[in-house]
Amino acid sequence: MLTAQEAESLILQLTQPLDPKDDRETVDLSAAADRILAAPVSGTQDFPHWDNSAMDGYAVRYGDVAQGSTENPVTLDIVDEIPAGSTPKKTIQVGQAARIFTGSMLPPGADTIVMQEDTQREGDWVKILTSPKPQAFVRHRGAYYQAGQPLLQAGIRLSGADIAVLATAQCLQVPVYRSPNVAILSTGNELVSPGQPLQPGQIVDSNQAALAALVARTGAKPICLGIVPDQPEILKAKMAEAIASADLVLSSGGVSVGDYDYVDRILAELGAEIHVRSVAVKPGKPLTVATFPKANSNRPVLYFGLPGNPVSSLVSFWRFVQPALRKLSGLRDGWEPAIVQSKTLQDLRSDGKRESYVWGQVRLTKGEFSFEIAGGSQSSGNLINLAQTTGLAILPIGQTAIAAGESVSLLLVNGLG
Ligand code: AMP
Ligand code: MG
Repeated sequence: MLTAQEAESLILQLTQPLDPKDDRETVDLSAAADRILAAPVSGTQDFPHWDNSAMDGYAVRYGDVAQGSTENPVTLDIVDEIPAGSTPKKTIQVGQAARIFTGSMLPPGADTIVMQEDTQREGDWVKILTSPKPQAFVRHRGAYYQAGQPLLQAGIRLSGADIAVLATAQCLQVPVYRSPNVAILSTGNELVSPGQPLQPGQIVDSNQAALAALVARTGAKPICLGIVPDQPEILKAKMAEAIASADLVLSSGGVSVGDYDYVDRILAELGAEIHVRSVAVKPGKPLTVATFPKANSNRPVLYFGLPGNPVSSLVSFWRFVQPALRKLSGLRDGWEPAIVQSKTLQDLRSDGKRESYVWGQVRLTKGEFSFEIAGGSQSSGNLINLAQTTGLAILPIGQTAIAAGESVSLLLVNGLG
């Protein structure tokens, strides 16, 4: 049985990212947020585009005002007014200034801005009540970016700030990776979909809806293939369909040692290479990870056979599937689970045999993460108190308790991670 760390490394090693050329599409800038850039972008214009003012004030020649002070102000003749968006009409000569505003172009001849607060206006004249630094408050052309230099690198998830950069570079058609296709199926004779009435012995298939939501949040496209009964022939056909149609497959249930747990056997029959059968974690021990070679591609299809227990299934997703999905999607780094140090507000316990995850809420109080365990049973079948989980406290193998007030590692999930 692999440790969690070994399984994580192996899974990332097995995951091949989408191809930046073959798996690329172009989207409008307005639809590019949260997509992953598939090619580096560079701009054709310097930024700032021209010398401009960082303040409302007066554009002056430094030589004229170097000796200015409140006691001995320099008086300059205002020869132009330059609102933002207009071009200066005059060259500033010795003894002259131009009224200027934030973002306005610096007029020729001027090299320094004196902010309005350090001046006194008298009709067409302005008194400079300070001795500014040379080139004060001038944003020089190309100071932040020179045309042709790399602007954004491939493999980044486009944030709002990145969109601002792309807009400034007038990049209206953005090359991004296509979303990976993730087939999802639930196995079990006892399962019914959420819209169906429950008969005795049945349980609602919550995993499919939950996994689809989590997959979509990573930016991938969920393909829900429904519920498949524990009947080997039907299951085999459905699994084959999933493998043929997706970059990554998630099934839940049927990977334990029960008489009706067929997934591993069928994977072998379908020609999979099985790399992981179980991981020393709790919840989530039965976890199957397999690969299928894909025709005309050196990127195999990844198959995750997740445990059926709702909590186990989601914990396995957060711990092992999400990193793989991030790498698959073209992200250049940051695939690993987000683990931070936190203070636990309650005592935490485990049997110490496997790396154990305790679910609950993470809070950021006075600059420090704190963890509050979810009330109710920490049983892998109790999906009810998994609601609103934002963190999993991790008790490593060999550690049976962490006392309230002590430090604990936290895997951040559900928007935090
Ligand atoms: P299994 O891994 O197939 O042995 O299932 C373990 C437990 O999880 C059983 O109690 C199942 O009824 C339950 N279970 C399996 N699949 C799902 C599912 N898709 N949604 C909710 N519960 C499930
Ligand atoms: Mg089952």
